[in-house]
Amino acid sequence: MNIASLKYKRIIITAGPTREAIDPVRFISNNSTGKMGYAIAEYLHSLGADVRVVSGPVNIKTTLAAKQITNVVTAEEMMEVTQYLATDADVIIFSAAVADYKCAVVANQKIKKQEGSLHISLIPNPDIAFELSKTKKPGQLFVGFALETENGLPNAISKMHRKKFDFVVLNIQDSKGSGFGFDTNRVKLIDNDLRITDCELKLKSLVAVDIVNHLIIKLQSSLPIAADKKSLSYA
Ligand code: C5P
Repeated sequence: MNIASLKYKRIIITAGPTREAIDPVRFISNNSTGKMGYAIAEYLHSLGADVRVVSGPVNIKTTLAAKQITNVVTAEEMMEVTQYLATDADVIIFSAAVADYKCAVVANQKIKKQEGSLHISLIPNPDIAFELSKTKKPGQLFVGFALETENGLPNAISKMHRKKFDFVVLNIQDSKGSGFGFDTNRVKLIDNDLRITDCELKLKSLVAVDIVNHLIIKLQSSLPIAADKKSLSYA
């Protein structure tokens, strides 16, 4: 593995959740902690890459410098910053758990409790990875994530093709320490030629090493990749 291929590479990483306001004090979001994205960013930085994180609201102590992080709140803001940074990016890693929907109308005062049910109309947010895939440049590499609770493999593969990911990290969400809210993760790395690399349950900081090692192999794609990487683990 030649880590020199990372030196000075401009790598953008979206991380954490986004938040979509309902009213001035409430929002729609998800349980993403951002740990996975930040772990990847920190490891890439330690290997000499020029890293920029576009971060939703997280509570993370990071070794990255403030100037490497752009904090955003909503999906729209995350897309605007990522699109801006994408122009000279070699790699974009889409690890953010972007809210799929936002409120059609954000109330400008706190919504009062009322009799019966309350209906909030939701409209789709832009899909950042899909929008950027339309202007993906030759040689640019996209890495996506898929967190699935069922039909993991087919869902992850269809996302990979639709959003032009070079590989997708299938995040297995279960109650045994993998996915949102845990310090550990169990993932499969699926290449766009459908080769699958299984990684065992491990700390997110070590999963980040697996993902970055995989990225380095992709960056050196002129070199032949091991013939059969199925079930290979970097452990
Ligand atoms: O379709 P799904 O949301 O599961 O796709 C997950 C992948 O797409 C992740 O890499 C995620 O960061 C990215 N994504 C995005 N913008 C969205 C939704 C997902 O960039 N609005």
